[in-house]
Amino acid sequence: MGAEAAAVLRQIDEIEKTQDLDTLIRREIAARRQKTVKSASGQTCPSCGSENPSSNKFCAECGVKLHK
Ligand SMILES: [Zn+2]
Repeated sequence: MGAEAAAVLRQIDEIEKTQDLDTLIRREIAARRQKTVKSASGQTCPSCGSENPSSNKFCAECGVKLHK
């Protein structure tokens, strides 16, 4: 009976850990989604990392060809 109670407590502990992890993952996904939305309007240079409008064929900063 004592072991059973310990098992139940362990399960509750696991559930709480999972919920914490779930919250962290949700926060992480939301942050990544915001970044994706932000860069969707333009394109990031693979060479220098500067933001360029999606109409640009070449980076305004370093002149490297941008792939879209
Ligand atoms: Zn560049």
